[in-house]
Amino acid sequence: MNQLSLKSNFQRKKCPKCGRMLPKVMFSKNKKTKDKLCCWCKDCCRKNASDWRKKYPNKAKEKAVRWQRNIRIKVLNLLSDNNPSCSICGFNDPRALEVDHIRGGGNIERKKLGGNWIGIYRKIVNTPIEDIKKEYQILCANCNKIKNYEDRGFNVYNNDYNDETK
Ligand SMILES: [Zn+2]
Ligand SMILES: [Zn+2]
Repeated sequence: MNQLSLKSNFQRKKCPKCGRMLPKVMFSKNKKTKDKLCCWCKDCCRKNASDWRKKYPNKAKEKAVRWQRNIRIKVLNLLSDNNPSCSICGFNDPRALEVDHIRGGGNIERKKLGGNWIGIYRKIVNTPIEDIKKEYQILCANCNKIKNYEDRGFNVYNNDYNDETK
């Protein structure tokens, strides 16, 4: 690491909201600003967001739903060069398309990243697409289900899979 990048890691910035001088790691990244960091520190941003959610619970819910839908669409487009369809059968109704972990392990990763898909979607949009395409693909709900059974050693054409429901 050279002198310059070492220095910038330890640089501080003042948060105009709480007035504290804080290390730059205490500010979230923001592509739109000059220094590529949010104006307010992470604590202030978090507090501000949670105050807003308390004040406008309905709007907050709506916003969250919209955000989740948008990030899902973004991920499907990213993984498919803007033409989302199942990698196995070509089915292309986005309502039944899912993101699949090519080598399995989706459940473990999901737990690690907060227990739902949002964590994985966030990871996907923040990772270079070449890396992501090696790990994830789009499958329709049917193909994904069948792949899950087969990954676990079940064959859909015998009765083993009925054990699931017992
Ligand atoms: Zn602050
Ligand atoms: Zn399919």
